[in-house]
Amino acid sequence: MHYLDHNATSPLRPESLSAVTHALAVGGNPSSIHGAGRAARALVEDARERVTQLVKAKDAQLIFTSGATEANNLALFGAVEGSLAEEEVRITRIFVLAIEHASVLATADRLAERFPWLRVSRLAVTADGVIDLEGLRVALREGKGRALVAAMAANNETGVIQPIAEISKLVREAGGLFLVDAVPAAGKISLDFALCDTMVLSAHKIGGPMGAGALLVRNGVPLQPQLVGGGQEKGLRAGAPNLSGIAGFGAAAHALADGEGERARIAHLRDHFETALKQAAPETVIFGVKQHRLCSTSCFAIPGLAAETALIGLDLDGVMMSSGSTCSSGKVAVSHVLSAMGVEEKLAACALRASFGWCSSMDDVHAAIESLLKLRERARGPHKTSSVAA
Ligand code: PMP
Repeated sequence: MHYLDHNATSPLRPESLSAVTHALAVGGNPSSIHGAGRAARALVEDARERVTQLVKAKDAQLIFTSGATEANNLALFGAVEGSLAEEEVRITRIFVLAIEHASVLATADRLAERFPWLRVSRLAVTADGVIDLEGLRVALREGKGRALVAAMAANNETGVIQPIAEISKLVREAGGLFLVDAVPAAGKISLDFALCDTMVLSAHKIGGPMGAGALLVRNGVPLQPQLVGGGQEKGLRAGAPNLSGIAGFGAAAHALADGEGERARIAHLRDHFETALKQAAPETVIFGVKQHRLCSTSCFAIPGLAAETALIGLDLDGVMMSSGSTCSSGKVAVSHVLSAMGVEEKLAACALRASFGWCSSMDDVHAAIESLLKLRERARGPHKTSSVAA
């Protein structure tokens, strides 16, 4: 098995697995005051500390959620609804990068339906997948009212890193709020929470379990809870927490705290993959290659080799990757990320993503290259020039 789909989900790290099983055995509810409750609460608070440290967050509150999808929903709905009470801080405009994850794009669209006075706009990216900073500057200057800007630290499909410090400067100058979806970037690049107001993380993308995520909120940012009930998470997210998921999240964040070695190893694998592929198949297109990208991600296309066909062939060879297109209701749609970058539909239909992580090896890289080259040959059909002597 050669698993090269860490951006979809990264297998559970051994440290996370033992934290999960330990937490499952604790058995208390963190809200209870007895011994078992206190033991459970200690696990949650320990994990909170570790995840907070991963993004160097100070002067912030960390709210555990069921994942990044819920955290993005809470960040957007919560910030807009939380701003309604005071006229001068009311959010009236939302800007989201056109390449954001669906949990940001769909939430912003839902907000526009719910609050017809709210203006929701999508921000363009360049052909390399980077925000058009001038476009943001103009957009912020043109409209009236407080703005909320959502920009991911790095894209999950291409790995292209956004200039978060520059975006932050523009948003701050305009007196707006800044949401950063840091899901694929966490543990891969250094993240500075001080540049934003809210930040979203997901456990299963860093080797923790699925079903745990976090929203970091700068103190003083009013946030309307979306799940109400028992008042957990300081009233911002009701419901007994996913104790084992949170404990596994904390362990994964801790494993990454000193992640320099791991990052260098992953970068070496990704770079080797791209160099070897380009050498053997020079027509290969690597998306966002001119930009700073996450060390873990390679989004590429071999023209003529359709992604759908490639994924099946790769899978038969035990190599697991993703395609740059999604299939819903039986119809294959080109990735919204590649189409925002202006990638031609024919080429985008060939887009594949190899994503590397903590357990990837050079063996995985070799297997992927071998399989891709075989599939490329097959897609090209029989060589017209080849002749076999009888
Ligand atoms: N944001 C980004 C950038 C993602 O890549 C993902 C997962 N694909 C999410 C949010 C949603 O994460 P979760 O699976 O934890 O809901």
